[in-house]
Amino acid sequence: MKKFKNSSIFLDRDGTLNVDHGYVCNPEKIQLLDGIIPAIQLLKNAKYKLFLFTNQSGVSLGKYTKADVDACNNRLVDLIGIQDCFTEICIATEPPSQEKSYNYRKPSPRFILEMIKKYNLDPKKSYMVGDKDTDALAGIRAGINAIYLATGAPPTEFMVNIINSGQAIGFPSLLTFAQYLTA
Ligand SMILES: [Mg+2]
Repeated sequence: MKKFKNSSIFLDRDGTLNVDHGYVCNPEKIQLLDGIIPAIQLLKNAKYKLFLFTNQSGVSLGKYTKADVDACNNRLVDLIGIQDCFTEICIATEPPSQEKSYNYRKPSPRFILEMIKKYNLDPKKSYMVGDKDTDALAGIRAGINAIYLATGAPPTEFMVNIINSGQAIGFPSLLTFAQYLTA
């Protein structure tokens, strides 16, 4: 008998779930983007395991602390208001100069690959969702689907190219993506 594999969504944070003010580090300033609550509800109801995967180089650059990131993540989960929202959270604190495959910083696929193994995830039914090239690349390198949301950073030429070549799919928002997945 074939063993059941889990479907999953890896979510970037800033520009994907909340407004990206740049180096977001104050929980008071966490502001959910439109439609995030119904989107998360749809995905949870459809039994997707959700993972939060956020690059926070501000920690290693000394702009804020890991405790600040935790406080922002807690505030985010409170605002979403859904129990056990994320199965696991990865905060990649390495600076951009440490963009190595053995680190967690996106575009490294390390966190995604570890979760695939740990939770028996089906790569074909797993998605890395974000607003930047590094999000899409982490998904592609991990062998899962890459989703670009137009809610944060505008698409780069690289992003347009990978969408046109079918390596990534673009959506206007997390809600439209969730509706597409669960339709
Ligand atoms: Mg982002």
